[in-house]
Amino acid sequence: MNQLDRIVKALAGMPCDALLLSSPISRRYATGFPSSAGIVLIHQGGGLYYTDFRYIEAARQAVPNFEVALLPSGRSYNDVVNDLIARYGIKALGYENMYVTAAQKVKFDAELKAELYPMDDMLDRLRAIKAPWEVENIVRAQRIAERALEETLPLIRPGVTEQEVAAELIYRMYRYGAECQSFDAIVVAGENSSKPHGVPGPRPIKDGDFVTMDFGCVVDGYCSDMTRTVAVGHASDEMKKIYDLVLQAQLAGLAATKADIPCTLPDKAARDIIYAAGYQGCFEHGFGHSLGLEIHEEPRLSHSSKDILREGTVVTAEPGIYLEGRMGVRIEDMMLVTKDGCENLTRAPKELLIL
Ligand code: ZN
Ligand code: ZN
Repeated sequence: MNQLDRIVKALAGMPCDALLLSSPISRRYATGFPSSAGIVLIHQGGGLYYTDFRYIEAARQAVPNFEVALLPSGRSYNDVVNDLIARYGIKALGYENMYVTAAQKVKFDAELKAELYPMDDMLDRLRAIKAPWEVENIVRAQRIAERALEETLPLIRPGVTEQEVAAELIYRMYRYGAECQSFDAIVVAGENSSKPHGVPGPRPIKDGDFVTMDFGCVVDGYCSDMTRTVAVGHASDEMKKIYDLVLQAQLAGLAATKADIPCTLPDKAARDIIYAAGYQGCFEHGFGHSLGLEIHEEPRLSHSSKDILREGTVVTAEPGIYLEGRMGVRIEDMMLVTKDGCENLTRAPKELLIL
């Protein structure tokens, strides 16, 4: 079933006649076509996609299952939506209340001639369950990231800076087919590695440092995400201890992951190991997150989640231990949730590597 059919099917169970998708991410999800401007309207009979002159030729070629039309000059998207409201007799129109700005909502209220119905997280819930072709795109992005890492590891040595390592990873991801990065690559060394989302800077790597690299790229719109932490020169007993604990915690979280469980369980399995070893307060982010068209999607694998994990979701497994001002370790894989467990989509080795 393609995305349009999935959305039409979901619409049938909603108290509205049509859905107005105005955010770039939802337009892309519905049509498969990336654009910075346009609207998608989905009704029980199918989908319409209006965009402007910059995109119209490509959209006509790329979105065969939608009625694709050019925004007439001098008319606004709200004018077009009103035409469609009249054409299809739409009384209640679903809108993306979690995406539209307060200013857009004021205009919707003033201009659109239908009752507006908030869609809440309806599309997020659809997006959480990946089709096989979506998983393939994520895996293609991941293989590119792994190739970039494999070629970058030999370049990591004392004197090389965090920024230089980040540049090597990023260059290689583009070179091997990435559209862009999933997010700005994190490369942090030594005492900087205690900052989970630190920014790569001019700090040279030193003997005895941990270097944490968290990075990913995008292929056909889909993100990958991985983290590896390596030691340079040598690893102290404490470094080996916390690395091993993070790895054991990650493996416990992976073992706890399967369909139809509360999203809190993998987090608890990993957190229990880290806390039992005396590292309370040193792992204060969630165990993982879903990803796909966006790097962070719902549901999250965190201690506060209220969601149930579903088969076909792609989630990360990324516990860490961060000792403020001294060092940090994070190991992150991506997994596809299956009925009885999960399939690890990450192939890069994760034993402690001392370069
Ligand atoms: Zn990551
Ligand atoms: Zn992540």
